[in-house]
Amino acid sequence: MNARTAKGTGKGAVAVAARPFHYRGRVLYCDGVSLAQLAEAHGTPLYVYSAKQIRYRFGLFQEAFAGREATVCYAVKANSSLAILRMLAEMGAGFDIVSGGELERVRLASKTALKRVVFSGAGKQEWEIDAALKAGILMFNVESEAELGLLATRAEALGVRARFALRVNPDVFAETHPYISTGLGSHKFGVEIGLARGIYRRTARSKWLDAAGVSVHIGSQIRAVEPFAAALARVAGLVGELREDGHKIRVVDAGGGLGIDYLDSPTEPKFDAARKVREYAAALAKAAERLGAVHLLVEPGRFVAAQAGGLMTRVIGVKQNGAKTFVITDAAMNDLIRPALYQAHHEILPVRRGRGASTKVDVVGPICESGDFFAHDRVMERVKAGDLLLLLDAGAYGMSQASNYNTRVRAAEVLVDEDEARLIRRRETLRDLMAAEIL
Ligand SMILES: *Cc1c(COP(=O)(O)O)cnc(C)c1O
Repeated sequence: MNARTAKGTGKGAVAVAARPFHYRGRVLYCDGVSLAQLAEAHGTPLYVYSAKQIRYRFGLFQEAFAGREATVCYAVKANSSLAILRMLAEMGAGFDIVSGGELERVRLASKTALKRVVFSGAGKQEWEIDAALKAGILMFNVESEAELGLLATRAEALGVRARFALRVNPDVFAETHPYISTGLGSHKFGVEIGLARGIYRRTARSKWLDAAGVSVHIGSQIRAVEPFAAALARVAGLVGELREDGHKIRVVDAGGGLGIDYLDSPTEPKFDAARKVREYAAALAKAAERLGAVHLLVEPGRFVAAQAGGLMTRVIGVKQNGAKTFVITDAAMNDLIRPALYQAHHEILPVRRGRGASTKVDVVGPICESGDFFAHDRVMERVKAGDLLLLLDAGAYGMSQASNYNTRVRAAEVLVDEDEARLIRRRETLRDLMAAEIL
């Protein structure tokens, strides 16, 4: 398990713009593929991802940590498409999973990647633990003493030793949306760092538990690197104490959560992903100095996938209600819930630009909820029924949070690789939707 899996290219990756979407003349492209043509071939709503951007982003982490024992474990929940998981597995990725379902996805994408899986999550069930033990995953990130008891029981039943890291709560404040902040004492995640030493001490009695590491994850969409360093510094202090107590701590999982810039200019993004990852790695390295020899894990999700993807939608109609103009799209909150759930901002671009003057509009979906919106009071080029729009930065927590609310089929997904596009998930059918129901 100490195999070194982070590998750099050695020559430094060629810088890639923060997003793969750009205009050629008047038409919006994803790398070398016209979005207008993709809409014609596959319909809308359509998620479009750039393979190049995903590989680039993931590679930045691998390169930044190439000088040390480290594995970059992509957080599957950000975008759990099998095709994307396989692509990352081929780059040597590890995976952070939060359910037995995600374990199954990793298995389907790459059997050899199973040994690089860490299993996080605040409510693991017996069947999920069993499946992960049988799969021989790298480590369980355990969130409570009760879960540790269940893990020991299941490990004994299956006759295998379970490697685990306790997820500790470092009580570090990180500025982000309250729903995606997890590292404070008041959150449901992990155990208070002050209680960890006693818990590790008690586990030493079980021969079925191997206290391999310590883990931390303070939240998501955190744009400053200091909170990550502060959390890791606290973990380093704990690791020192645990070693004094005789535990052989070999792994430290620094979690995920590095944020992106959703507000960046849609057509001329300034966001420097390479620099951000270098800053992040440097901050972690400094905090890790006191750790001595450990295998470091990082679990980026959003940073890898978000800006690589967009959600393309067609305008159904434009409607005037009093002073307000509503642009109603065929995509809705069931396709991309981030605006409704986190008041998230997504830039919106016309797939064919230069068609009219700018106006202020609300962009909304057809679902029967006032929360079904993509933008309020957004200034954009005038559009009409039939026009195509692209919601940017939808590659993470987009499709993976999609639902069938309002009995709407989930969108299709396309992966663009340079000049080629491949359908990686067909659009659902109404038959798919109702297949599990019993009349
Ligand atoms: C969600 C999650 C991640 C990934 O977070 P991002 O903000 O997408 O980088 C990593 N680790 C754990 C434990 C998580 O729950």
